[in-house]
Order: sequence, then structure tokens, then C-alpha cells
Amino acid sequence: MAPVAVTRACTGCGACLLTCPERAVRPHGRPLVVLADRCTGCLECVEVCPADAVVETGRPPRRPAGGAP
Ligand code: SF4
Ligand code: SF4
Repeated sequence: MAPVAVTRACTGCGACLLTCPERAVRPHGRPLVVLADRCTGCLECVEVCPADAVVETGRPPRRPAGGAP
């Protein structure tokens, strides 16, 4: 599981898809899927979501922000 997850409050607006610097949010199904092997836990998606649909899971990121791609 990634450091963040999308809940059913998601309206599908797409803001997190455009904002995520790691392209960790995938538009597959609803709720959207956050890829654990990409998400660094930067929380930019939490900030940008107008529906407060992105929540922290408490899981640590598998790789740090700014790390090797
Ligand atoms: S926490 Fe950061 S890296 Fe993870 S899905 Fe959100 S915007 Fe992307
Ligand atoms: S920003 Fe929020 S409401 Fe919009 S697609 Fe992402 S999780 Fe869903």
C-alpha cells in the first residue's frame, strides 16, 4: 500500500493526476489507484484534491522524494 490512498469521495476531477510529480496516481477505475512503488508521500495530491478524497495511510514510501527514478 502507498503512503496515500484515494477514497470513494473522489469525483474524478483529475487534479491529482496532473499534480503528482511521480505520476503515481493512475486513472484506472474508481477510486483511483496510487502506485506504491512510485509514490514518495509528498502529499501534493492531498493538498490539491478539492474533495478531500486523498488520505494518508500511514505507510512509509518505498523510495524517498527526489530519489533515483
Ligand atoms: S503523495 Fe506525492 S507522489 Fe504520492 S501520489 Fe500524492 S502527489 Fe504523487
Ligand atoms: S484530485 Fe481528488 S477528486 Fe480529483 S481525481 Fe484526484 S482524488 Fe479524485
